[in-house]
Amino acid sequence: MDVTGKMPVLFTGHGSPMNAIGDNRARSGWKKMGEYIGKPNVIIAISAHWTTRGLYVRTAADNPQINDMYGFPPELYEVHYEPMGSPEFASAVMMCLAGRAKGNNSWGIDHGVWSVLSNMYPDADVPVVMVSTDATADAQTQYEIGKSLRAMRSMGALIVASGNVVHNLRMVNWDMDKGYDWADSFDGAVKDAILNGDFKTPVEYENIEFFEKAIPTVEHYYPLLNALGAAEPGSKVTVWNDYRELGSMSMTSYLFES
Ligand code: ZN
Repeated sequence: MDVTGKMPVLFTGHGSPMNAIGDNRARSGWKKMGEYIGKPNVIIAISAHWTTRGLYVRTAADNPQINDMYGFPPELYEVHYEPMGSPEFASAVMMCLAGRAKGNNSWGIDHGVWSVLSNMYPDADVPVVMVSTDATADAQTQYEIGKSLRAMRSMGALIVASGNVVHNLRMVNWDMDKGYDWADSFDGAVKDAILNGDFKTPVEYENIEFFEKAIPTVEHYYPLLNALGAAEPGSKVTVWNDYRELGSMSMTSYLFES
């Protein structure tokens, strides 16, 4: 891909932190996607795990790794991934967001982002600008935030929004390698809409059946709305890592091009 042209937009499900290592479907999808896209000038990473009141952008030149997960096997804690930050691109992001976001360097690169990027770009040689998920903003505002970031794509910035379309931790079943019927249903409704170029339905997710179970809290769903906003209407959409697991977790991911 030509990094002087417009970069695509990704929404990726991240799911369990264990997807970062070993042999699993998510990981092979991430590797393939990194190879397909090639290296951008910078990654704008929107994280479900940097959940904030108000919108924040990390502006520092570094990205300390945050292992914000507990009780996992030691090999997971052996993943080290600390790409550079980019104060220049961070200030471009802040300009795009036109006063909506503040700089904040209290967070770093969390597992929702490093689990994905350590597989897409294992050399950690692409700078990353972290953007928080403002859990206090409504769904339409999330879409507008994404729209504000569209201009970054022409600067060779790859937007990677990391969350999960269906994410209900209370209902996780570690013995299931597929989704409950309601999870399949909600995920499928969102997918059908997106593939039809209908971004309004996912924004108005409260009208979709089973949304209460699929989205008991908004922080993992909102990055999808940021990605939809950053994608032009009429974009070419590719669905990847299209599966549910642990009963209540959807890994369904989207690539938006041109
Ligand atoms: Zn997560």
